[in-house]
Amino acid sequence: MSARFIPLAEPDLSGNEEAYVTDAIRSGWISSTGKYVDRFEATFAQFCGTKIALSVVNGTCALHLALLGLGVGVGDEVIVPSLTYIATANAVRYVGAEPVFADIDTANWCIDPTAIQKAITPKTKGIIAVHLYGHPADMDAINAVASAHSLWVLEDAAEAHGALYKGRPAGSLATAAIFSFYGNKIVSSGEGGAITLDDPALAARLKLLRGQGMDPERRYHFLEIGYNFRLTNVACALLCAQLERAEEMAANRAAIFASYREKLANVPGIGFQPVADWARPAPWLFPITVDDELFGCSRDALMARLADNGIETRPFFPPLHLQRPYAAAWRKRGGDLSVTKRIAQTGMLLPTYAALSDADIGRVAAAVRAAGR
Ligand SMILES: *Cc1c(COP(=O)(O)O)cnc(C)c1O
Repeated sequence: MSARFIPLAEPDLSGNEEAYVTDAIRSGWISSTGKYVDRFEATFAQFCGTKIALSVVNGTCALHLALLGLGVGVGDEVIVPSLTYIATANAVRYVGAEPVFADIDTANWCIDPTAIQKAITPKTKGIIAVHLYGHPADMDAINAVASAHSLWVLEDAAEAHGALYKGRPAGSLATAAIFSFYGNKIVSSGEGGAITLDDPALAARLKLLRGQGMDPERRYHFLEIGYNFRLTNVACALLCAQLERAEEMAANRAAIFASYREKLANVPGIGFQPVADWARPAPWLFPITVDDELFGCSRDALMARLADNGIETRPFFPPLHLQRPYAAAWRKRGGDLSVTKRIAQTGMLLPTYAALSDADIGRVAAAVRAAGR
């Protein structure tokens, strides 16, 4: 008899999700206006400690919209980490600018402020700091580098709902922040995204661009070419229900993280994401690193062994500077991305979701141990 399949991620829709979605459908408000859009935007701003939150169709479009709003364009450079989801860099290219990759810090696997400093040129306009796997980047140091060079900073908090940096929430730590609500994220509506910020002028600009460039004073008169990046009332109904349980869901995941750390402690060659003393990471998917010499088998071999045991895992993001759309530009420019390379090659994510029992975690941990020496 084969053991039950353990997927990497599963949404937790056990609260008012169904009731609110049904309510949205029965009301007839299924497009991008309605009470759930308003409620979500107000609640999410509160959750992030910002004045304003704007719902957007997905996290990638939130990045694109933020860069448009910040006025990034052809000839500009934006400094980004290479160890991130490809959307972070793609959005920079969407607006005609060039992503410049900076290495990550061994202390937290997020973009390194010293590496940012070295990557700045006269063309640099801003920095996208990714809170990788839910761990906040060192925002005070990044903001200090940015303000010394008059750059904006955008947080990519797609994986970091509820993370704290020195007690302040992710989403409130820079010029603006973006979130994703994709199916495997901590707070989810299947597809969805948001931008959080305090600046009302920038928010007005983002709203205009989100809604086809329509004049807010005159319907169907357009001031410029905008986009349709609006999120639906149905998706926002899901998000309202998710936010009601955000604390509870984060606590469930934190318990899973603690259990993995306990059950995998002292396994030679298995490493964890270091947690800075100023950070309370958002527990997204549990990351480990595999030192093949010490552990006795490679990351990829371990993933294959777990797959044989019905356990789904995922490797860390392959570094963007080695991906086809970015490799040539990076080879020309060069730069030291050695930490990125090392962490990306050895890292993998373990299953993390509310319905995962402690016995399941035990099964995953036992399968990891069994694959080592
Ligand atoms: C998920 C993710 C995104 C993109 O979000 P989508 O909603 O899937 O478009 C962007 N950046 C990071 C770091 C992500 O993990």
